[in-house]
Amino acid sequence: SRKKQLSSEEMVSKIVQGDTVTLSRAITLIESTHPNHLAKANEVIKGCLPYANASVRIGITGVPGVGKSTFIEAFGKHLTSIGKKVAVLAVDPSSTLSHGSILGDKTRMEELVKDENAYIRPSASGESLGGVARKTRESIILCEACGFDTIIVETVGVGQSETAVHSMVDFFLLLKISGAGDELQGIKRGIMEMADAIVINKADGDNIAKAKLAKTEFNRALHLFPAKKSGWTPMASTCSAYTKAGIEDVWNTISAYFELVKNNHYFEEKRQEQNQFWMMETINEHLKSSFYNHPEIVRLLEENKKAVQNNEISPFAAAMNLLQRYFKD
Ligand code: GDP
Repeated sequence: SRKKQLSSEEMVSKIVQGDTVTLSRAITLIESTHPNHLAKANEVIKGCLPYANASVRIGITGVPGVGKSTFIEAFGKHLTSIGKKVAVLAVDPSSTLSHGSILGDKTRMEELVKDENAYIRPSASGESLGGVARKTRESIILCEACGFDTIIVETVGVGQSETAVHSMVDFFLLLKISGAGDELQGIKRGIMEMADAIVINKADGDNIAKAKLAKTEFNRALHLFPAKKSGWTPMASTCSAYTKAGIEDVWNTISAYFELVKNNHYFEEKRQEQNQFWMMETINEHLKSSFYNHPEIVRLLEENKKAVQNNEISPFAAAMNLLQRYFKD
């Protein structure tokens, strides 16, 4: 039987009442490339906006295999056990390339999936980072309107996706495992700088001692970074998503962060900055795609590339040719 089509007003009122079936349908509209769906999605988002924002947004990143799904299951269950309503979203622009590293992996979140106070939405795949980021930002708004007070945004710690997620959350958690000794090797400085907490997972069994050493090493490194605008000093800790040791502490740390930044108003300031950032980012992206998809530009670009290659024209003159042609319309 065909599902009854709800109007955008009906969708908003159902979402605000906490109906997750409608929430899922609305997110599907957001993810659609069909212009009609997009128009309807925009109406639903607009209707939900006044009910959004009353949440904390936590980003979680880490390389594949570090235990993100397992950690989110344990962490999410802890949150619902203390009365939180948790939504898990994912930013994964690479899933079609890196087959297999599935985010929001429901098989590793068996308990959380069944939890009526949790909502898990696996990532839309096969998209540009900008596309996935927009969809996730908009999905956050709908989840908040639906009553979810704790939003977890998961991403794989490869490529640019951490930066995108960092720009849409209030707190950024880097998940690690203890390695062969030199813990700082291979970890990008930029990611360390973004982290509000580093949590070393799999601190169980034979791993406990190694994990503690890694924690000390990370704490020492974190202290070398300049003070954060938030006034928060990032710290490293250990946990086990298996034994649940340290999971509650992660939440206590995050709670302390929110107490600090809500008191010093950094919380609001950062969200405002992020809104401005995403507005500009969206303009930039549209300008770029409009430019590069312009049929005349596609042709001229090839011509001018060859001309530059043959030293017939300077790169700057070639660029100006193209820009002037584009802005003539
Ligand atoms: P993801 O790729 O980052 O989402 O990682 P997964 O959650 O899929 O976990 C990768 C592997 O590590 C799986 O085999 C998990 O069972 C295992 N794992 C996850 N958390 C822990 C933990 O706390 N301790 C141990 N020993 N193994 C874990």
